[in-house]
Amino acid sequence: MHFSFLSLLRQAFANHEGWQPYWQQAAPKPFYDIVIVGAGGHGLSTAYYLASEFGMRNIAVVEKGWLGGGNTARNTTVIRSNYLWEESEAIYEHSLKLWESLSHVLNINVMYSPRGVMMLAHNHHDTMVLKRHVHANRLAGIDNEWLTPEEAKAFCPLLNIEQNIRYPVTGAALQRRGGVARHDAVAWGYARAAAALGVDIIENCPVTGIRRGADGAVMGVETGKGFIGAKRVGVVAAGHTSVLMEMAGVRMPIESFPLQALVSEPVKPMMPCVAMSNTIHAYMSQSDKGELVIGAGTDVYTSYSQAGGLHISQHTLEAICELFPATRRMKMLRNWGGIVDVTPDRSPIIGKTPVPGLFVNCGWGTGGFKATTGSGHVFAATLASGEPHPIAAPFSLDRFRTGRLIDEAAAAAVAH
Ligand SMILES: Cc1cc2nc3c(=O)[nH]c(=O)nc-3n(C[C@H](O)[C@H](O)[C@H](O)COP(=O)(O)OP(=O)(O)OC[C@H]3O[C@@H](n4cnc5c(N)ncnc54)[C@H](O)[C@@H]3O)c2cc1C
Repeated sequence: MHFSFLSLLRQAFANHEGWQPYWQQAAPKPFYDIVIVGAGGHGLSTAYYLASEFGMRNIAVVEKGWLGGGNTARNTTVIRSNYLWEESEAIYEHSLKLWESLSHVLNINVMYSPRGVMMLAHNHHDTMVLKRHVHANRLAGIDNEWLTPEEAKAFCPLLNIEQNIRYPVTGAALQRRGGVARHDAVAWGYARAAAALGVDIIENCPVTGIRRGADGAVMGVETGKGFIGAKRVGVVAAGHTSVLMEMAGVRMPIESFPLQALVSEPVKPMMPCVAMSNTIHAYMSQSDKGELVIGAGTDVYTSYSQAGGLHISQHTLEAICELFPATRRMKMLRNWGGIVDVTPDRSPIIGKTPVPGLFVNCGWGTGGFKATTGSGHVFAATLASGEPHPIAAPFSLDRFRTGRLIDEAAAAAVAH
């Protein structure tokens, strides 16, 4: 069903009783060309691009819980592309460009709002690092500009730029095209568009094993709903990637950490942009409902629990209150956690594995929502052809053997 003014009008006259479900609950078929494990944003976008750009129809997305129940719907939706290295700039900028037309392409309002992402510096080191990012980005044709504390305050009037506080603002890097989107709508939009093209979305179906043939190649996945055969399997399971890959005998260079966020009571519009500070692991934006959306850093220990330590959010709130004094008397409504998959160089892993027919897309850690579009796009190309898409190629698993790392630790110290 196409969403349009006309369809809205028609449904209005029919008491809104004719709206179709976004996707049907599919029962698994015995065999697919491609099985994608994990119905988060990345898995669903991969399925959508496989169907829409590569004409593949015999595809299933297998999800252990409900669609979008992982990090996709737990994140703070910051979107930007101002990473340091060329490889990262290429994939995040590719993603940002896809965001710009996503609502139109998927025929659903993903509420992409390029309101500007401002990254704060608090000392000489931060200033040097962020200026380096600004120069690198501008050389690559990506917008990023340096602001003095006064200019930062003009862009975000809530910001405290007094210099006698614990975290004085010494400047900021601003990407004006950066912003936020509605995470659920992104997952639902990709699912709806993929299902319309014939992709089977199978929820409540945990993958419990990855079956390999005598030649070592992948044959399919064991699931809670029985064995599902596949020519190729793509694991897109974020924080659970290591567990799944272990099922095929592949050890991943990934650690899984809880990462948390919280929202305040809803208030009138007060925060016009996204402001973030890597140094003090805190960032804030305002949702369309009026809640201030606040993100914290990861816990310092590995865990599969979807809740972070209280001391982490306390630390974040202390910093937020100092940077944005207007928030001091606000009440927090709720907090939650997700499990993020962190690689040693804080860059993702996209591509082949040592097991023929088994592919992986993971390691997005604290910052993969922004890449939901581009990641799915290049992973679909990789799965369809069996060879890495040029943008995905540098993010091979092999780089941890060759040493050709893409170190984005400075940019990815905090969720974003
Ligand atoms: C609190 C928080 C804030 C964040 N903020 C931002 C931000 O502002 N900007 C940004 O860019 N990124 C952010 N991120 C990171 C971002 O959320 C993730 O990188 C991204 O959503 C990962 O998407 P995904 O589709 O790979 O993972 P997920 O949405 O987690 O999808 C993986 C899916 O795999 C499923 N799965 C796992 N095991 C199995 C199994 N055995 N069988 C079947 N299915 C399985 C899971 O149930 C899950 O649905 C944040 C993350 C968190 C937790």
